[in-house]
Amino acid sequence: MKTGTTAARHETRQIHVGSVAVGGGAPISVQSMTITKTADVEGTLQQIYALTAAGCDIVRCTCNEQEAAEGLAQIVPRSPVPIIADIHHQYRMALAAMEAGVQGLRLNPGNIRRPEHIKAVAAEARDRGVPIRIGVNGGSLDPKLYEKYDGVTPEAMVESAVQEMAYFDEVGFDLIKISVKASSVPLMVEAYRLLAETTDHPLHLGVTEAGPPPAGLIKGTAGIATLLLEGIGDTIRYSLTADPVDEARAGRQLLESLGLRERKNIDLIACPSCGRAEIDVIDVAQRAMEAFGDREIPLQVAVMGCVVNGPGEARDADLGIAAGAKRGHLFVKGRNVAVVPEDEMVEALVEWAEFIHEHGVKAAIARADTVRAEREAARDRAALLASQGADANHAAEKIVEIRRTVDASSASDR
Ligand code: SF4
Repeated sequence: MKTGTTAARHETRQIHVGSVAVGGGAPISVQSMTITKTADVEGTLQQIYALTAAGCDIVRCTCNEQEAAEGLAQIVPRSPVPIIADIHHQYRMALAAMEAGVQGLRLNPGNIRRPEHIKAVAAEARDRGVPIRIGVNGGSLDPKLYEKYDGVTPEAMVESAVQEMAYFDEVGFDLIKISVKASSVPLMVEAYRLLAETTDHPLHLGVTEAGPPPAGLIKGTAGIATLLLEGIGDTIRYSLTADPVDEARAGRQLLESLGLRERKNIDLIACPSCGRAEIDVIDVAQRAMEAFGDREIPLQVAVMGCVVNGPGEARDADLGIAAGAKRGHLFVKGRNVAVVPEDEMVEALVEWAEFIHEHGVKAAIARADTVRAEREAARDRAALLASQGADANHAAEKIVEIRRTVDASSASDR
């Protein structure tokens, strides 16, 4: 693991969800959940493949009825990643899912409360070597604990997990990971901190019912990233009201951005656009994201609104494109390499990214006519400066206004 500003990882035991190691220093894994009916085998498998392509390591499917368990029996052998069955109120569905061959279970202690049922599931899981996540959820906390703590508190959530572990312990089962999710970020963060002090079982992080993006993404990131930067967490899931592929992508991108996983896909950066922009930066960036899709090209690619500042601002990107006078200027590590018509910018980016991925930065620069590209960029830069002036963002006017305001307020203070 790259450390950077990240605290040392909280030490946890290691379990295996099928082929994926969780905890004990294993790479932090990304999870998501299908939203198809699990009985719809083909539809569910299509979604599992889409999630895998987006960077998901483990997929959870609901197992709420017999048809779902039967679907799992067909899905598990064809899935490219381990499958976890999400169990609701019926412990029998947990037994059925194990029968179907799932590589993991998720139980909510708030939903299955009879000790004999919990122990029956744990004993079966022990015999089969199937790990179980104890998935405490603030919204469905055991009413007794709710009463004891006068509401949903970090202590109540952790106690719920501890009680469940005690049942597991009675039957000698310890292939456990734990989550204490809540929709409130501060509550969830406190609960996980307390949990990390309480146990060395691996922890699954998430902010539950975070809602649709962008608010859901922000809530999920606030909670998950805070804990990861403290070294807490072994596997993560964003819970978004959105296509689950977005959850997987978000999880992957968060880990990559924190330096906790190697980059697998394009890291697209784009300038925020300003008075100089010669293109609709949001539109071009969006189209570029779509064009790259889930291709495994681990490069940083920049979409910049103007050739006046773009290549310089994004000089550390492996590849970028900046808009000139109706043309796109491609640059590699800040060096101008080619000029393309504006409507071919996205295609050109993809083509150059593929070339760099295959042959490297040096070869890309070597194949380019950098002298001509730089001359053309200089020409467009000059044309833009001539048409927009040196101060396209009207900063000078704002500076004058700022000075006037500051002067006026200090004069009134005297
Ligand atoms: S100066 Fe150019 S590259 Fe920088 S934000 Fe404005 S449009 Fe984008």
